[in-house]
Amino acid sequence: MYRTNTCGELRIIDKEKKVTLAGWVQTVRKFGSISFVDLRDRYGITQLLFGEDMNQQLAETPLGREYVLQATGTVTERSNKNPSLPTGDIEINVSSFKILNRSAVPPFTIQDDTDGGDDLRMKYRFLDLRRNPVKNNIELRYAVNRAARNYLHRQNFIEIETPFLIKSTPEGARDFVVPSRMNPGQFYALPQSPQTFKQLLMISGYDRYYQVVKCFRDEDLRADRQPEFTQIDCEMAFAEQEDVLQMFEGMIKEIFKKIKGIKIKGKITRLTWEDAIRYYGNDKPDLRFDMKLTELKTIFSSKKRNLFKKEINESGFAVIKDAELVGAICVPGCSEYSRKQTDELTEWVKRPQIGMTGLIYVKCNTDGTLKSPVDKFFDESKLKSLAEKCKAKPGDLILILAGKEELTRKALSELRLEMAERLGLRKPDEFKLLWIFDFPLFEFNEEDNRYVARHHPFTSPKPEQIHLLDQPSQYANIKANAYDMVLNGNEIGGGSIRIYQRELQEKMFAALGMDKEEQQHKFGFLLGAFEYGAPPHGGIAFGFDRLCAILGGSESIRDFIAFPKNNAGRDVMLDAPSTIDDKQFDELQIKLNLKN
Ligand code: ASP
Repeated sequence: MYRTNTCGELRIIDKEKKVTLAGWVQTVRKFGSISFVDLRDRYGITQLLFGEDMNQQLAETPLGREYVLQATGTVTERSNKNPSLPTGDIEINVSSFKILNRSAVPPFTIQDDTDGGDDLRMKYRFLDLRRNPVKNNIELRYAVNRAARNYLHRQNFIEIETPFLIKSTPEGARDFVVPSRMNPGQFYALPQSPQTFKQLLMISGYDRYYQVVKCFRDEDLRADRQPEFTQIDCEMAFAEQEDVLQMFEGMIKEIFKKIKGIKIKGKITRLTWEDAIRYYGNDKPDLRFDMKLTELKTIFSSKKRNLFKKEINESGFAVIKDAELVGAICVPGCSEYSRKQTDELTEWVKRPQIGMTGLIYVKCNTDGTLKSPVDKFFDESKLKSLAEKCKAKPGDLILILAGKEELTRKALSELRLEMAERLGLRKPDEFKLLWIFDFPLFEFNEEDNRYVARHHPFTSPKPEQIHLLDQPSQYANIKANAYDMVLNGNEIGGGSIRIYQRELQEKMFAALGMDKEEQQHKFGFLLGAFEYGAPPHGGIAFGFDRLCAILGGSESIRDFIAFPKNNAGRDVMLDAPSTIDDKQFDELQIKLNLKN
């Protein structure tokens, strides 16, 4: 037996017990004729005392950092207690020990605050995983997983695995493809999600399915994405939108209770997609703070806008050229911003990522007066009504942007987040959940000059709008029975009620520009299955990595994945992707012909 106890469990009540521990050497401290060794395992750290005899032996077989050590001894009370360690009242007076394995000097210190940079830690991820902050994240991930599974199990969901080697039907993201040796010249794709399988399972009668499952999307890796990521993927038959929302509201509440000890009372906020865009400029608003967008169309009438434009040109603030939208946010408590600060904000909105031509501000001073660089163009009552419209209070700073509708909304949304960040309103220990629903069914893809499914092609339109599928001019107005769950400004889950009739699915595919032949080639299996008693169904998938990261108070999903890829999609530990042997190419009957 390698050990009787872990390094995290012995307490003063265990005094006098003879125990054997096994773990990694964290530190060795010599004091004259005795030595102390901190022994670490997954559960904690226990201090080992090597008295004079043992110390002699230790001198003959010196220990290094991260050596694997087994030590037997008696639990004794420490004279010098360490209240910051759960085991800090005791130590093990070692009577025998054995080095189970040596360790090379680790490339960085295995401590909470390590000296290892990101690249080094990723290269030696197996060592990084020994560190407490990383270990805690991995344990949190498991706890979230368990909470979700327990809940779903209680609700009669069963976990069913679906294949990873499937057919390539790219829609949305790019597929990862895998050549088939047994079918030369043919390729599998890795699933972007188990979407069609879970729908087939509904047709098979497994009316509540879930799977904690890897999904693969060959996307350019924008900030904090992974080419392989994990979903809690779920589907329910005989379910309407309301049933799905309630079921998964229950799941997320249970996760919060189990993981954070937070009881979320009442229903989760619900916002239509249109309202989310109108009030927050995006469809995953962070509701930990208010700062809603206010449209100021009436105040900046077109006549006034021209006036505005001239002055703004002169003063170098901004050019409001044919502004489709004039919008504002009201930032609490910032009326005393200096000229330097407002200038800096102006530069901020002018950055290419934001793309505005300028910024106008109105300071709502604490004495009730209003001050703006453009105030000479407005009588006081006009400025007042502007402040009223923005629901500004004394001490607030109103920030106004204008320009093309979509760009301006996006910029206001970014500015809202930026100001909240600066004001410390995006607290990692505060959580604000909401549902967004009534998404548009389609979105126009400029690149391909056609409509694409906003969620995916299996999402059902609102029943009362089905007839609009025959009128392409109306596509932009069709709403879907689709919903997202949003947490602190992140989409953590998304799903929809599905199409379950062949005819409607064909119509949907056709609307997306797929002719009959393509439909049959790509989705013949699903269309066929719909003819054999497909029940109404719907579902959702949660982004498990992101959910864990937010619950863990982190921005980065990588911290919550045991073996993540870097921003270039590489596993730097394995050095993957990599070339393969000529023999492998031969077997696959593939010849590389790389274009530069
Ligand atoms: N399969 C969908 C996705 O990955 C989620 C769903 O509709 O259930 O986004």
